Amino acid sequence: MLLEDEVPVESFEGIEFPAPAKVRLEMRYADRMLHVAGSVDALARGHCDACLADVERDLHLDVNERFDPAEGRSADPFAESNVLTGDRLDVADLAQQLVLSALPLGLRCSDECKGLCPVCGGNLNAGECSCT
Ligand SMILES: [Zn+2]
Ligand SMILES: [Zn+2]
Repeated sequence: MLLEDEVPVESFEGIEFPAPAKVRLEMRYADRMLHVAGSVDALARGHCDACLADVERDLHLDVNERFDPAEGRSADPFAESNVLTGDRLDVADLAQQLVLSALPLGLRCSDECKGLCPVCGGNLNAGECSCT
């Protein structure tokens, strides 16, 4: 079964998701397990945690999960969730968790962001400030 959907993602700690996440998942049963594979694409918008610049970042997440319908809950990292209820997969919940798990350190303008100088507050991405 192929599922294509667009689901809204709730904002999270200052990070907003202005457009719904695009979900494309293939689901199939094998060995009494529900296998979910595919991708989730989302757009995250907010401020860089380090330098406070406006950031807009595309997130592309590959999904490859197994759920056990008999238990009604899945193995980590979704053990505490209700992603699977009976034989119904909560796509919105799944997408939300995947997107948030892709932002463990919050939003950054880039992996190389130097942040702000702790002394003068200058943006070190724009060059060294006079206090260094
Ligand atoms: Zn930054
Ligand atoms: Zn400085």
